[in-house]
Amino acid sequence: MTLEPTTAEGRAGLAAIRTEPAQALLAFDYDGTLAPIVPDPTQAVPRPEAIGALAELASYVGWVAVVTGRPAAVAVELAALDGVRGLEGLVVLGHYGLERWDAATGTVETAEAPPGLDRARAELPGLLAGLDLADADMEDKGLSVAVHVRRLGDADRALERLAGPLRELATVCGLVAEPGRRVIELRPPGTDKGRALRGLVVETGARAVGFAGDDLGDLAAFAEVERLRSEEGLAGLLVCSGSVEQTALCERADLVVDGPEGVAGFIKALVAELRRER
Ligand SMILES: [Mg+2]
Repeated sequence: MTLEPTTAEGRAGLAAIRTEPAQALLAFDYDGTLAPIVPDPTQAVPRPEAIGALAELASYVGWVAVVTGRPAAVAVELAALDGVRGLEGLVVLGHYGLERWDAATGTVETAEAPPGLDRARAELPGLLAGLDLADADMEDKGLSVAVHVRRLGDADRALERLAGPLRELATVCGLVAEPGRRVIELRPPGTDKGRALRGLVVETGARAVGFAGDDLGDLAAFAEVERLRSEEGLAGLLVCSGSVEQTALCERADLVVDGPEGVAGFIKALVAELRRER
């Protein structure tokens, strides 16, 4: 795989990562980006080669992070990220930045559950039954609750019918409805992947930022990289993990790859380029 961003900003971002990797932060979404999307979200596991490539990448660049809507500990456990040689400095931001796991300490910092979450949990089964969607899968994520329609007969139609009622429920519970690939999540307001990424950039002082994602929840991180480029003079590279289910990110990406396999290929190709530069 050769790395050829299709935009001038992306080419500048890649060049900055290659020439000064120690000043670069590379951040990755989890589901649909590092790990393939599967019918049962508790089985979403990256290929071992993807984690191996990530560990190699971490030996070249300043910082590597995972930024996910999952609870941080769940992503760490699913991908077996604890104790991986080479990933001793890894940071996993969970729940769109409300949680943080540091490989250096092996501990998770988390936020208080929002007060309206119990009400959302209690009302969801009735809401789903009322829409004749009782077969949708409810996933309790601790600080949020998600409704998955992937296993329903007509998932797209189910998602359409759920969108309005779930938005209303989120509003009365003081939550926000976060749409994704065949899922809508009711989660606390006040954070998103853009703010999470910004926090890492401020903390690290990175001068170049790469971010890879696949879904609507990643748009905020894309927007933050665009802002860092245009307003703060940072270099940035936006990678879309392409899928037939979601194309919104591809239109804004500097580089589109074919799903999690393509992301692993991207990481490997970047490692190969960094190896040549060293
Ligand atoms: Mg994703």
